[in-house]
Formats: sequence, structure tokens, C-alpha cells
Amino acid sequence: MTSAIAYATPSAKAPFEKTTIERRELGPKDVLIKIAFAGICHSDIHTGRNEWGEAHFPLVPGHEIAGVVEEVGGDVSKFAVGDRAGVGCMVDSCRECENCLAGEEQYCLRGNVGTYNAKGKDGRWTDGGYSSHIVVDEDFVLHIPDGIELDVAAPLLCAGITLYSPLKHWQAGPGKKVAIIGLGGLGHMGVKIAHAMGAEVSVLSQTLGKKADGEKFGADHYYATSDDATFKELKGEFDLIVNTVSASLPMAKYLSLLRRDGTLVSVGAPAEPLEVPAFALIMGRRSWAGSAIGGIRETQEMLDFCAEHGIGAEIEKIGADQIDEAWDRVVDSDVRYRFVIDTATFAS
Ligand code: NAP
Ligand code: ZN
Repeated sequence: MTSAIAYATPSAKAPFEKTTIERRELGPKDVLIKIAFAGICHSDIHTGRNEWGEAHFPLVPGHEIAGVVEEVGGDVSKFAVGDRAGVGCMVDSCRECENCLAGEEQYCLRGNVGTYNAKGKDGRWTDGGYSSHIVVDEDFVLHIPDGIELDVAAPLLCAGITLYSPLKHWQAGPGKKVAIIGLGGLGHMGVKIAHAMGAEVSVLSQTLGKKADGEKFGADHYYATSDDATFKELKGEFDLIVNTVSASLPMAKYLSLLRRDGTLVSVGAPAEPLEVPAFALIMGRRSWAGSAIGGIRETQEMLDFCAEHGIGAEIEKIGADQIDEAWDRVVDSDVRYRFVIDTATFAS
């Protein structure tokens, strides 16, 4: 076993506490990673504040993990000590079902094993990346290409792949008008990736407050959704809209912005249900879809794509004592654009 320093929330809405957790003994296919940086995803907050109603406490969140391999099991073939490594939202799956065999482990029919707040195959609860070390089967570990610094790479492991996968699946590219709703952690990655794919990118944000940033990330257009004129002006405009918002939105208004046969993809996962009147879909033969992260193979493809295009997350690095404050700022839409915990601050 490896003792790791970790930061855990003992119950919903309680402040984080420093603690020690035991990482499992290295199995033959396991990799021990010394975590350098862990991103803060809004999903950590939905889970930790028990908004999704299935939290197991004490909870060590974190599924945007970047670090360096410290030790490998006897049968590990893809990683060596010293390699730069990443871990995203899952650490295992059944590996046998149709979806796992298709490389879409995130849709494992028996349920993938989440990086935290999940029961592993050994029956133990998993602990996430707000910690100094993690042990993961090599099949669920990613290579972080040399061209990306570890701190700006960490958020790619969830925010990056969560946008890359639907943008690719629905063929964002030259000649396509793509809108991203919400310029937060996921949204800003969506703008960068859709731009790199060659699409014409619009941001639909609550206000114009982050317009200059959005344009710097690659947005061609930027609109405030607090202004009703936006919905009149953009009616029938987009081929593809990706909704990254962590709260419930009036879906009919946003669906009206799709062209005929356009698709709106929900990746934001608010606790409250989203409502869609049937006519918002019927008129214009519009589709409303969802998408969860991406498979391991596609996550590696995304990391390589980001390295090739010089894409990393825009981050604000924080110490372990700032996690509570960072969570509040994320909830207040006051994130520019991902908080990343620096584990070098754990020792003090
Ligand atoms: P985030 O950084 O907080 O970004 C969400 C953005 O949504 C905010 O920055 C804000 O953008 C906008 N927003 C927030 N509250 C709003 C409201 N009441 N009305 C309108 N817009 C609002 O969160 P994130 O980490 O990107 O995660 C976003 C959501 O995706 C969360 O629900 C998370 O759980 C989910 N998620 C899903 C997956 C998946 O696989 N599907 C993966 C990761 C995360 P503006 O200020 O620009 O308006
Ligand atoms: Zn996430």
C-alpha cells in the first residue's frame, strides 16, 4: 500500500480536511502516479454537495489528474517510471460489453468505475485526484504529450474530452456553425477545440463580460443570453450547439437557434430536469442529444490533437487551502477558466 496525502470533504457542504488515504498495493498491470496537478470540475461540486444525491463520504474528488509515473507493476507495458501520465473520469470498466469493446468505456453497460465516489472491482470506494498519489490500471491511464505542460493538461482529462467527443461525433469542422453555451471550464475548452477543428464558433454566455477572452480562445462571435435580442437574431443559425451549463436552462429557446436538422448536445448535468416542449424538436426536425466524456482511445486522441494544436486549459493555480473558496467561485460563474490544485502545496 502507498499512503497518500488527500483532501476530503467529510459531508455535503463541509469544508475540506487534510487526511491520509491508502492506495492499493500495485497489481501487475497497475501504475503508481505521483499527482502534480488536479483540476476542479463542476461535477466534483455537484457530487460533493450531494446535488446528484449519491455521494459517499468522506469524499476525495478529482478526475482531472496529471502527474508522473513513480512505479509500475510487473506486467505493465505502456508506461515506464518517469512518464508523464493523466487520469480522467474513470479507472475501470467491465471491458467485455459491446460498448467497452467499441472503445466507449464511458458507456460500459455494467457501469464504468468512476475515479472517485465509485466502488472498484475490489469492493473499495475510489478516491480521486485531490491527493498526492493514485494507483490505476494502465489501460485507464493516458500519455500526456511532451508539448503540453502538466498544469494546463490536467483539465483536458475531463473538460477537454467532454467537448472533443461530441464536437467530433457531430462533425464540427469547416463550414459548420457551432455554438457553445457557457464559457466555464468545459465551455472554454469547447471554443478552443471547435476553433481548431475549423468550425465557425459562437459563444452564448450570460453576459458579454468575458467576450475578449472568448475571442482570444477562438470564438468568431459572442452573444449575451441575458439579452432577448440574441434569440431573435440567431433563430435557425447553428448546425450544432453544445450546452455546458451546470444549471437548468429554458431548452425551447436554445433549440430555436438550430437550423433544420441541427443538434443540441447536453453535456452540462444540472441536478434539476431539463424540459423540452415537443414542438421545439418537431419544427425543423431538430435533435436533442447527450454525451458523456469520451472513451480511453478517444481521450488519447484528444490529448494528441491538443498537443498538435497548442491547446491547453486556461487555469488559475491554487493551493490546498483554497479548494473551498474555489468551489464557491465556480458556482458563482467566477472561474477563469479552470482551477487547478497544485499538489506541491500539500506538504506544508
Ligand atoms: P463551470 O466551469 O461552472 O461552467 C459552467 C458555465 O455555465 C458557467 O461558467 C457559466 O458560463 C454558465 N452558467 C452557470 N450557471 C448558469 C445559469 N444559472 N444560467 C446560465 N448559465 C449558467 O462548470 P464545468 O466544470 O464546465 O461543468 C459544466 C457542467 O458540465 C456541470 O454540470 C458538470 O457536472 C457537467 N459535466 C458533464 C460532463 C459530461 O461528461 N457530460 C463532464 C464534465 C462536467 P457563463 O458565465 O459564460 O454564462
Ligand atoms: Zn469533470
